[in-house]
Amino acid sequence: MASPATDGDLGRTLEYIRQGRDRFLDDLTGLCRLESVSAWGRSLRETAQAVAALLERAGVEVAIRETAGQPVVIGRARGRTDRTIVFYNHYDVQPPDPLEAWVSPPFQPVLRDGRLYGRGTADNKGNLTARIQAVEAWNRAGGGLPVSVAFVFEGEEETGSPNLGPVVQENADWLGRAEGVVWESGYRDADGRPTVSLGVKGICYIELRARGARSDLHSSQATLVPNPAWRLVWALATIKDGSERILIEGFSDAVREPSPADLELLQAIPDGAESMARNFGLPGLLGGLKGVAAHRRNFFAPTATICGLNSGYTGPGEKTVLPSEAMAKLDFRLVPDQDPEDIQAKVRAHLQRHGFGDIEVKVFAGERPARTDPSSPFVALVRSAMRETYGQEAIVYPTMTGSGPMPVFSDLGLPVAGLGVGHPGSAVHAPNENIVVEDYFLGIETVATLLARAGATP
Ligand SMILES: [Zn+2]
Repeated sequence: MASPATDGDLGRTLEYIRQGRDRFLDDLTGLCRLESVSAWGRSLRETAQAVAALLERAGVEVAIRETAGQPVVIGRARGRTDRTIVFYNHYDVQPPDPLEAWVSPPFQPVLRDGRLYGRGTADNKGNLTARIQAVEAWNRAGGGLPVSVAFVFEGEEETGSPNLGPVVQENADWLGRAEGVVWESGYRDADGRPTVSLGVKGICYIELRARGARSDLHSSQATLVPNPAWRLVWALATIKDGSERILIEGFSDAVREPSPADLELLQAIPDGAESMARNFGLPGLLGGLKGVAAHRRNFFAPTATICGLNSGYTGPGEKTVLPSEAMAKLDFRLVPDQDPEDIQAKVRAHLQRHGFGDIEVKVFAGERPARTDPSSPFVALVRSAMRETYGQEAIVYPTMTGSGPMPVFSDLGLPVAGLGVGHPGSAVHAPNENIVVEDYFLGIETVATLLARAGATP
């Protein structure tokens, strides 16, 4: 067996990263020039190939795996031990709209005031290249990787990862033996502290539609003709009450109580309630919650959200119309062990039971929740690498409040930790997406250090 990496090896690796800053930034800006919007289905193959080229240059063996959608790029590099760290990222991005809100064009990344602006800088190309570059540094300057690494880069994360599962499944025999997975994203918090997240919420997304007369009518006919807008409103009112309780029968049956270790994490998370409310222009958060109570609800409570409502006339002035149709879009953010399939079935049963069997339910692809045990050795490893790099303790979130394909990996029994180069003003999915350039280099160093410490752990 090769000798383990020394502090000298890590020192040379970090020095290589410091010397290589300009080129590393060029790699990232080059990748951000590619318009790999998965919703458009353009430039994705080209981007997968560009990513593969970066991996190859870093000394990683690459396979491009075709799927029914966009290709998945799988990378593998041997280190001094068989112990393996997996990196999951995505090379697709969100559409840049509204274009007019961008100060500089979304696909022409530029440096401004110490930040790099461009679509994908934070979500998720910055994290993707930072990880490849850490591996390159070890291979070029550190005398070889301390541990083995694997990369799983998909091109459909922003459209629900419909083709990732089977690819991970067919590699489960070796991926499943890894120490853990470094997840695609992570951000500094509002006080500038680095954070690490140990899970995702699941999601169930549905559309409800009520129908009335064949066409819109004069509103004087409301005496005798049913109004689907009222019908939909009445149905929605059975889903959640005015004190924020979700009323769908059995909705919370599968909700797992947070563990003592989960709850302990909340104590260390700063209370952002007031600044959050202020940023949103609100007098306070729901129910006046703050501190640990707000964290508990934020991380461990499922939601029922009306994302959109549409019916009748909504233009300027008045139009006395009786609409023929009303539509609402809803999402439910789910916590362990809720399941999107089960939740949509419960929504249907609930509507039936309350006399709304006529309301049409359309279901979109859902995602399950996932959670990593905070006491997992992999989490300790990630935290120590972050402490070493940032010079301070990372704030640990028990879960992200968003969703993603994490169950694909956690189903293999792998611990997963989300960290990355974003900050609270990164404007992901929004105009003027950006990262702080210094955070980018710290992101590379964190991964380099993580690999060193992973190799040093007995
Ligand atoms: Zn995203």
